[in-house]
Amino acid sequence: PASATERQIASAEAHSAHNYHPLPVVIAEADGAWVTDVEGRRYVDMLAGYSALNFGHAHPRLIAAAKAQLDRVTLTSRAFHHDRFAQFCTELAELCGMEMVLPMNTGAEAVETAVKTARKWGYQVKGVPQGRAKIVVADGNFHGRTTTIISFSTDPEARADFGPYTPGFEVVPYGDLAALDAAVDEDTVAVLLEPVQGEAGVLVPPPGYLPGVRRLTAERGVLFIADEIQSGLGRTGRTFACEHEDVLPDMYVLGKALGGGVVPVSAVVSSRDVLGVFRPGEHGSTFGGNPLACAVGLEVLAMLRTGEYQRRAADLGDHLHRELGALLASGALTAVRGRGLWAGLDIPAERGTGRSVSEQLLRRGVLAKDTHTSTIRLAPPLVISKDDLDWSLTRLREVLSP
Ligand code: PLP
Repeated sequence: PASATERQIASAEAHSAHNYHPLPVVIAEADGAWVTDVEGRRYVDMLAGYSALNFGHAHPRLIAAAKAQLDRVTLTSRAFHHDRFAQFCTELAELCGMEMVLPMNTGAEAVETAVKTARKWGYQVKGVPQGRAKIVVADGNFHGRTTTIISFSTDPEARADFGPYTPGFEVVPYGDLAALDAAVDEDTVAVLLEPVQGEAGVLVPPPGYLPGVRRLTAERGVLFIADEIQSGLGRTGRTFACEHEDVLPDMYVLGKALGGGVVPVSAVVSSRDVLGVFRPGEHGSTFGGNPLACAVGLEVLAMLRTGEYQRRAADLGDHLHRELGALLASGALTAVRGRGLWAGLDIPAERGTGRSVSEQLLRRGVLAKDTHTSTIRLAPPLVISKDDLDWSLTRLREVLSP
């Protein structure tokens, strides 16, 4: 007889589109850094919902904030004001060192909002001729899955058969300032980058790149948009990955952990000059900035203001990278990248693929996920204990150095 896991997977395969290839585990419950599957087996979650679960599963503060709001009001639409909205936008702008917020739900929607904002700013403030606004992006980027966003992806899987593509984007190599300098012209309204490229395999740009982008964009009158949807809100050991190089972009795009892994919350955060371009009716979202999202988001902001999670990410991240450095030195890995509690590991071909290593980790009680062919990404919840992190690293050593 088939197990509960097999039955659930077969039924999902039969009745849901195959746009993902999940590892063969069916999760039923979760708490902190641990999840439990339908067979009662427990696993350490070393992916943390692609960083949406920076505060772990079911953090008591986030669950309490959500429950309290569920009993008051969950949705008004932006046709009316509600009593959590102003405080959420004020506190989020403050955390970012900026002035205004435009809340949405998913990451892709926030990136779309950033693109629309930059174009409108380009026409209305910078004076770019109608229809010519250009946005420069990086090779290997991942900003989401909408038709416009995949138009400037360089990943064939993300693009193929989804055209016709949206024009107005130019791709340059990531980390190459000279190429960026050459691509920026008088019609350029923005440079859109991930300060650390997550889906590409946790690629940290060379030192000086982000400050160089900041200088270049400021000199040329171009907006610097930092997509910190995955890198932001504590993951790298700072609130924002840009802070490692003392860079303040013109706009942050945030998502994932902003909703604490409880509700989808995303936002564009910028100055009054930039977000001030919108007039009523020009952009919106039924659920964007809803009371439940704001209540959970406010608790996330309060938790981030303590600095506790950023410190944990920095301290445990140092430990993680020391351990991974030793694995690299032993030849069990071909490369290790990352910052804070976030790492991309390249697996030598003779030890298998990222997928096969993820499957072996799963059998040993560790959830991690491959990206591309030979890379594994580690991004445990920032609340993970050092013991649980070490336990997971021991499992990784068992798989990589048998
Ligand atoms: N931008 C970055 C940097 C991301 O990592 C992601 C998701 O992985 C997105 C945007 C898209 O977010 P969502 O899946 O919520 O649309």
